[in-house]
Amino acid sequence: MFYLDPLYLVLAIPGLLLGLWAQMRVKGTFNKYANVRTTRNLTGAEVARYLLDNQGLQDVRIEQVQGMLSDHYDPRARVLRLSPAVYGTPSVSAAGVAAHETGHAIQHSVGYGPLQIRSAIVPVVQFSSSLAPILIIIGLLLRFTTLAWIGVIFFAAAVVFSLITLPVEFDASRRAKALLDQGGLMSSDELKGVDKVLDAAGWTYVAAAVAAVGQLLYYVLLLTGGGRRRS
Ligand SMILES: [Zn+2]
Repeated sequence: MFYLDPLYLVLAIPGLLLGLWAQMRVKGTFNKYANVRTTRNLTGAEVARYLLDNQGLQDVRIEQVQGMLSDHYDPRARVLRLSPAVYGTPSVSAAGVAAHETGHAIQHSVGYGPLQIRSAIVPVVQFSSSLAPILIIIGLLLRFTTLAWIGVIFFAAAVVFSLITLPVEFDASRRAKALLDQGGLMSSDELKGVDKVLDAAGWTYVAAAVAAVGQLLYYVLLLTGGGRRRS
């Protein structure tokens, strides 16, 4: 079967391993700095509120959301949702994540290009990425190559999404560090901790992009004959 193809393993394993490593690293780094209390003793919610207000974003709300590392900014509702370990904890990790999500709110308010593109393609990607594997499998089984290629093009939308996510995430972390530094909320030692937490988080997006590109490459090689060695 084509999904047990060695070619698939070669293209999928780097992204998979990188993803596992990144997940372990982000959890480990977050937990380490979740135990480091900041001198200003502000919770993640307080840090986010302070930074948002400073940027004239008083109308962006902050809510608590369940989960670990489930923190995100919702551009439609203009709500910053923070996980319990961030929302109510005065730690270096909490401040870093809260500032990162604030970075997304600022990207939204200034119309940062990559974020606008990402938001615009979300509905397309949700639709096309769930349909892509079905089209590819049916196309291959029926030897209907055009259908399989349509599936590959659909999957490419998901790849574009994972690639456009990279500048969005790295820019949010860059803004986060600048905000915390300018706001005088943290010591230079604490900022170094923030740097490590956000850097670890960044690698999870790199891993996702590597996995997506590997998958796309596999589909393309499969359809262009790269995977037909045994037929
Ligand atoms: Zn982010």
